[in-house]
Amino acid sequence: MTRARTVRTLPPEHAKANGKPPAPGRCPGRRKPRREELNPGDNLCAHCSAKCCKYFALPIDTPTEWADFEYIRWFLFHERAAVFVENGDWYLLVYTRCKHLREDNRCAIYPARPNVCREYSTTNCEYEDDWVYDHYFETSEQVEEYAEAVLSPRPGRTIRSPKPEPPRGASALRDA
Ligand code: SF4
Ligand code: SF4
Repeated sequence: MTRARTVRTLPPEHAKANGKPPAPGRCPGRRKPRREELNPGDNLCAHCSAKCCKYFALPIDTPTEWADFEYIRWFLFHERAAVFVENGDWYLLVYTRCKHLREDNRCAIYPARPNVCREYSTTNCEYEDDWVYDHYFETSEQVEEYAEAVLSPRPGRTIRSPKPEPPRGASALRDA
């Protein structure tokens, strides 16, 4: 199972610390610092809205034919589902808040959190807001359009608008 975009190793000093108290002096509403601005010993999670506790992502097979894309279209019929591609790998992403995330964005079961949370690290997490995917799909129409671009359109079924007919009288004018 993939918790997030990338599997990471866990340097203990950077382990996710949602169960720890907020950093002293943290001011709500203040611009969140860039990770390189943190003081030694400061914890990145104390400045974050617990972004990694508000979704999960699972790897899925790379679609190669229409039947595969049909599954992906179906995924996206569901609320809060998305599909992204990173480094050529496809993932189903579900935006859903963990039941154990407290209102203050701390983990309510920190000592008993599962391994997938323990193994997650701030080293390469989504703290920044500038993640870019190879591809990102939120609607079934986006998937269908992508599939039509990489596969042949299905006979008799395309989401692309038909090529417009020339306006009436254009051929008569041309032939005159
Ligand atoms: S996204 Fe990164 S900084 Fe934010 S809570 Fe998760 S591990 Fe901590
Ligand atoms: S168990 Fe705790 S650390 Fe893991 S996702 Fe839920 S709130 Fe976050």
